[in-house]
Amino acid sequence: MNEPVPYSILAETFEIIEQEPKRLKITEIVSDLLRSIIYLTPEDLLPCVYLCLNKLGPAYEGAELGVGESLLVKAMRDATGRSIKTIQEDIEALGDIGLVAASSRGRQKTLLRPKPMTVRGVYETLKKIAAVTGNTSTQKKVDLIKNGLVACRSSCEAKFWIRSLSGKLRIGLAEQTVLTSLGHAIALTPPAHLDAEDGARAKQETLDRSVSLVKTAFCEMPSLDKLVPALLEHPLEDIPLYCTVTPGIPVKPMLAHPTKCIRQILSRFEGHAFTCEYKYDGERAQLHLCEDGTAKVYSRNQEDTTQKFPDIIARVNKIKKDETIRSFILDCEAVAWDASKRELLPFQVLSTRKRKEVEAQAISIHVCVFAFDLLYLNGTPCHRLPFCDRRMLLKENFIPLEGQFQFAKGMDSQDTEDIQDFLDQSIKDKCEGLMIKTLSSHATYEISKRSRNWLKLKADYLEGIGDTLDLVVIGATKGQGKRTGVYGNFLLACYNPTSEQYETICKLGTGLSEENLDAFTSTLQGLVIKAPKGYYKCDRADATVWFSPSVVWEIKASDLSISPKYQAAKGLVHPNKGISLRFPRFLRIREDKTPEEATTSQSVAHFYNLQQNKQELVEHDEY
Ligand code: ATP
Repeated sequence: MNEPVPYSILAETFEIIEQEPKRLKITEIVSDLLRSIIYLTPEDLLPCVYLCLNKLGPAYEGAELGVGESLLVKAMRDATGRSIKTIQEDIEALGDIGLVAASSRGRQKTLLRPKPMTVRGVYETLKKIAAVTGNTSTQKKVDLIKNGLVACRSSCEAKFWIRSLSGKLRIGLAEQTVLTSLGHAIALTPPAHLDAEDGARAKQETLDRSVSLVKTAFCEMPSLDKLVPALLEHPLEDIPLYCTVTPGIPVKPMLAHPTKCIRQILSRFEGHAFTCEYKYDGERAQLHLCEDGTAKVYSRNQEDTTQKFPDIIARVNKIKKDETIRSFILDCEAVAWDASKRELLPFQVLSTRKRKEVEAQAISIHVCVFAFDLLYLNGTPCHRLPFCDRRMLLKENFIPLEGQFQFAKGMDSQDTEDIQDFLDQSIKDKCEGLMIKTLSSHATYEISKRSRNWLKLKADYLEGIGDTLDLVVIGATKGQGKRTGVYGNFLLACYNPTSEQYETICKLGTGLSEENLDAFTSTLQGLVIKAPKGYYKCDRADATVWFSPSVVWEIKASDLSISPKYQAAKGLVHPNKGISLRFPRFLRIREDKTPEEATTSQSVAHFYNLQQNKQELVEHDEY
């Protein structure tokens, strides 16, 4: 009991999962592993869950490994004595640096055999690697990686040690699966164990309830540092008391469903009171005031963006109704503001603001915060109140200040003509369109959900396919003629979270300005890789240059078509053909989205089905 869990156990579990196609089975395998850990060495549960998710800590702490392929190759050279060139050739041939580490392991020669790795040791080393700074940081990181490699007892350990460092485990272990397994493990392991006499149905209900408690807690408080110890310490039923919406910890935001016309909104919300609000074209900003007086701003991805917005922080005391307001969480959109013309500026202007170390006095791009929701006030979460009550509390407790802090402009009429006029007015006022929200029934704030209680109606969806897509740039071809020296044609991909693969969807060549082409080329040059990643579903002939998945672009298209060439959503609408975008057009860079938050293959299939009228855009069967 309490012996550190050997890393070999985790690596062997990863190996089994990699071969296992069924999600239910994967959930069971992970749950069995977590159960043993809870029973034998509970203090290793947290590092084990982090390693399963390939994360170092909560997103808002922003720890990053800062390890590129070249560092891994150097460490492999130092551990095995192989040349950089041969290692790189192997990577190109196998398409996976983890496999190269596994196959190189036998060549390691060590006099003193280091101790075997443990789960907690691996996690601590990853954190150490992320924390290394200074002039010699590269060498220090290489040494830490090499020491890990030398300590590996099997090729499977080497494979997953290197894959963890490369940022992708590639075993199809998604966050939701790990949370489900954690829920099962907690329910099945003492002290909250199930009685043997419980029937199968009762057992399933207990498991489902546990998963739901774990997932809800993680949405409300997306910090495993807090959730895992709470699960070990308290009865499951009490978890909502310990893990709930709290200032200082960003909440995963509620998202909206796209709609194409007012008729769909009316049929969706028939019989329910709703309101329309301007959909501002800026950046989502969750503004927190903690009980100790600290104020924070978080992005749509739960990143801490406080440093980018010192001006917003400076306003916190001015927007409170009075000194009785001690703590809050406001959901807002930060929008660039032209103070002389007293009007909004487009997102593109805001995107030029520096991300870090902005001095409040040196800010040239002014920002007005539009608050549209209140999730917490003075020690009490309010996300479970209906929107009409949250909106009332918002307006009662905060003071608007022109050009600095305003409430999202809203209109409660449910008449088609009024909505049309309000939509037109929103466009004149430099917004993207409308957000339509239920007011009293089915009107709680659904954390982390793309909810059907929030609909978005963007003016430019009214034609086209219903929404824009956020796609990852994975390749390009070098430009010719006038475009020599810059990339000419970009290969874009959507993300399939089930297989953890990027699937090609279209090429984008026309409509990019010279400045854009220059800027994109210089960013993408830093991401060039020798060959497409093993987890790209693509045709090698699609591009002449390949990139690591990093850059996400928002793209508008005229429609979707079935394609024998592209891989997006293959098998979802056609057994062996994919879907491609017709007439794709670049709209903007999505700096607030990671490649794994790009439009999913499942959404692409959904858009295609909508277009074919196989499905109503907004389903009616929910209320
Ligand atoms: P996705 O691409 O995943 O759908 P997104 O970030 O592009 O998400 P949309 O779904 O297009 O966002 O629209 C919702 C976004 O609109 C919110 O995330 C928020 O940033 C912004 N927004 C602007 N005004 C409002 C408002 N009044 N209420 C809610 N969100 C608003």
